[in-house]
Amino acid sequence: MDYPMRIGGEPAASTHPLEVRLPYDGTAVGTIFEAGRELVDAAVKAAVEAGGAMREMILDERAAILRKAHDRLIGRKEEFATAISSESGKPLKEARLEVDRAALTLLFSSEEAHRLRGEVVPMDASPGGRGHMAMTVREPVGVVAAITPFNFPLNLAVHKIGPALAGGNTVIHKPASATPISAILMADLFTACGLPKGALNVITGPGGSIGEYLCLHKDVAMITFTGSPEVGLRLRNLAGMKRVTLELGNNSAVIVDGDANLEEAAARCVPGSFAHSGQVCISVQRIFVEKTVRSEFMDRMVELTRKLKLGHPHDPETDVSSLITEKEAERVESWIDEAVRQGARLLTGGGRKRATIEPAVLADVPPEARISRNEAFGPVVGINGYESLEEAIARVNASDYGLQAGIYTSDIRKAFLAARKTRVGGFMINEIPQYRVDQMPYGGVKLSGTGREGPKYAIDEMTEPKLICWKV
Ligand code: NAP
Repeated sequence: MDYPMRIGGEPAASTHPLEVRLPYDGTAVGTIFEAGRELVDAAVKAAVEAGGAMREMILDERAAILRKAHDRLIGRKEEFATAISSESGKPLKEARLEVDRAALTLLFSSEEAHRLRGEVVPMDASPGGRGHMAMTVREPVGVVAAITPFNFPLNLAVHKIGPALAGGNTVIHKPASATPISAILMADLFTACGLPKGALNVITGPGGSIGEYLCLHKDVAMITFTGSPEVGLRLRNLAGMKRVTLELGNNSAVIVDGDANLEEAAARCVPGSFAHSGQVCISVQRIFVEKTVRSEFMDRMVELTRKLKLGHPHDPETDVSSLITEKEAERVESWIDEAVRQGARLLTGGGRKRATIEPAVLADVPPEARISRNEAFGPVVGINGYESLEEAIARVNASDYGLQAGIYTSDIRKAFLAARKTRVGGFMINEIPQYRVDQMPYGGVKLSGTGREGPKYAIDEMTEPKLICWKV
């Protein structure tokens, strides 16, 4: 089936078709079209033209469209879940959860539209303010370029589209080339909910050419990007005066203290490491366990990991399916091999069949191994022992990334010490760092990015506080 782009509310194809394939076995899923610069220009023009209609809409009208989008998405859950699973290779049961979360993200965006407000400025707090009053109103920034990755093709897109529309902006969405279909379905769903034509456009094609061209366009006011640090940094350096939000990678760490509930910690760390084959920006990649309980914890991890069911993503029983490409699976395999050559012990998994890797648990991973330093973005977790909490915190912080981290402990003093001493955007106590619900502020420090998502926080970044001052 063909999936043309959506520009100004209408389908738009080019003469350059691109195949979308199921990553698990290469089955054809659909055909998209590569935009040239003229189609990017057309999308920006449509977004600029729709800006007037979006600005004139009262908050309640924007909220109503977002609420309708929530309701309709729930009604079409299976269709969207199948599209996500087919384009990304995500197991169907996780794809269904993604649709539920995306619907909630729309609902939170609708609620935030109702709450969008400025503030009264206490002008007479300074002598020069005598006889003056002032307030701020939140105005849209304008055209938002939203660039999204393959791993949560619907919910991460909606995290940009929902708040942008709630704030009165218009959007051009450039989804990952591997996973564009749910984005196109979403644009049609919004049109059916009464969104003005051109307020949400979807263009498809290689990020390196059209994504970059879009971001540099003079009529684009803001870039909101989720993806790899390399691309994020490049866009930030090119952005000039445009607003930029970057949601980038991580190599999430969790500390398991000697007095933690090991059963609970292992039961959460296994899905935290292997959901969507570890292709989650906050996937649990590094576990530091107090030495007294290290072997017991490792045994629990290995036992639970071996119970995961590998298979076709459309099989409702499948826990772990393929990575996004065979090349990515080869890369992860080579990182596991490298860690073993450098002295790590492979406790279970690591075998590869085409694009699928058996969930791998490594022990004693040396700090110089790529699995300790970089983002694996694959089904592999390394477990290392530690003597003191200070040592564990130092190892969590020995990372270029800082998105989320966590600790399992029954000692509240240790929990808050770790929470305060780790350099991350979010810290979880007795929960895995892979934990996220969609209303919370979400974003990182260091190479993990700048800015926060979660509808309440994203709307702040997507609107300008305009000051209106008057003399009384
Ligand atoms: P990616 O390669 O950086 O691609 C992300 C998006 O950027 C895709 O739409 C891609 O288009 C586009 N792109 C690539 N090069 C570009 C350029 N020069 N200019 C503009 N756009 C460009 O990332 P990915 O492999 O899809 O996703 C994995 C990464 O995303 C991981 O690092 C992960 O941690 C991160 N991530 C972060 C979060 C978060 O919230 N912090 C959430 C999910 C994922 P093409 O597909 O056409 O190349």
